[in-house]
Amino acid sequence: MNNILNENFSRNCTGCGMCASICPSKAIKMEIDSEGFYSPQVDINLCNNCGICIKTCYKFDTEISLKKCKPIECFSAVNNDSRELENCSSGGVSIELMRECLNRGYYVVGVCYDYKNNIAVTKIAKSYNELEGFKGSKYFQSYTSKSFDEIVNDKSEQKYAFFGTPCQIYAFKRLSELRKNTSKYIFVDIFCHGCPSLNLWKKYLSYQRSKFGISEFEEIKFRSKTYNWHEFAFEFFADNKKYLSEKYNNPFYEIFFGMNAMNKACYDCVTRSSIEYTDIRIGDFWGSRFNKDIKGVSAVVINSEQGKELFYSVLKNFKVERVSFSEIIKAQSYGKLHICNEKKRERTLRLLSGDLNIKQIQKQYRKADSVKVIAKRILKNMAKHLPSKVYIRVKGLLYRD
Ligand SMILES: Cc1cc2nc3c(=O)[nH]c(=O)nc-3n(C[C@H](O)[C@H](O)[C@H](O)COP(=O)(O)OP(=O)(O)OC[C@H]3O[C@@H](n4cnc5c(N)ncnc54)[C@H](O)[C@@H]3O)c2cc1C
Repeated sequence: MNNILNENFSRNCTGCGMCASICPSKAIKMEIDSEGFYSPQVDINLCNNCGICIKTCYKFDTEISLKKCKPIECFSAVNNDSRELENCSSGGVSIELMRECLNRGYYVVGVCYDYKNNIAVTKIAKSYNELEGFKGSKYFQSYTSKSFDEIVNDKSEQKYAFFGTPCQIYAFKRLSELRKNTSKYIFVDIFCHGCPSLNLWKKYLSYQRSKFGISEFEEIKFRSKTYNWHEFAFEFFADNKKYLSEKYNNPFYEIFFGMNAMNKACYDCVTRSSIEYTDIRIGDFWGSRFNKDIKGVSAVVINSEQGKELFYSVLKNFKVERVSFSEIIKAQSYGKLHICNEKKRERTLRLLSGDLNIKQIQKQYRKADSVKVIAKRILKNMAKHLPSKVYIRVKGLLYRD
């Protein structure tokens, strides 16, 4: 079978959605599977076996490998505008690059939150206003089909600045190589820990709704910096009121970072551990250098002359320091495999698709925790009573590799 159902693949599906958008006979649709991940569904009656889906698919790429990449330059960056810093996840690099790309005539592709369906959606922005929704990370896969369809079918000279996960960027890079139009794109991807199941988010959201007695939130921030940048927390907004998520034992982040509810492809993702396909990679600047910072610092890795020229043109908007690539990746999952505990993953995903609420799931989920994990959690919770700067140091020691 000359389509993505072919069993001769080397890796798992990232759910990027390129196969569905590139299929000329519209034989593939992206749908959420029972585990809460986007998965391509092929209608074999419509498929004409052209094989184009395989040519852009990460699963079938036999050339892809963990090549040693040497970036051109690396920086730490902190946005000079305190409001931008407040509203972003890290140091606020993304929005400045996006605005500059719009100024240069690119359409900007990014991820916003769809409040009607409570999912993350990849969208195309053509104005400054539309960029606002791209601010802040939404920590699960985005639904890409509508915008990918539009870009794939755009035969004009329109240029696109694409911001997304490394697997999404990889897909567009492959497409642009295939169509020999790489100059149409500029790529900015993110350091990526992986994407948890959408079921985790849905469970957590419904728990927060009932806890605060709110039927629909009007705005959600996934990375509130109210506690501090190092402490992952949510802010929910409704009826002109702000609701802050728990400081202790946040079930969403506990299960997300616990690594047992990830998409299968995320455990050994090659694109996460390579900068080969992107012009710029951005992320949080974790590690000891900014341990005391509580507002957020970005890590910026420049991998092409095009990326360098773009970042330099917005440099004035940041407080920057030149740093080494090795310092940045030391505190990232870049180049590291996540161990997949199949049994625990399967159990967690089963719990997340069942009837229990997220607090009950968290209780069940913890049953398989080792003594070390339990001890770390207790110490971390105790340390949260200390001043932020002391807490950050203790957390750093507890979770050091
Ligand atoms: C699933 C996921 C895992 C991540 N893992 C890490 C990690 O391990 N280490 C690390 O340093 N950083 C990680 N990040 C990146 C980090 O959270 C910030 O997104 C990044 O540092 C940019 O922050 P900023 O302050 O420049 O701008 P922000 O305003 O926070 O920009 C957010 C950017 O991320 C994009 N985005 C938001 N949600 C998604 C999504 N679901 N899929 C694709 N793109 C999205 C937006 O389009 C925008 O470009 C992750 C992000 C996501 C979405």
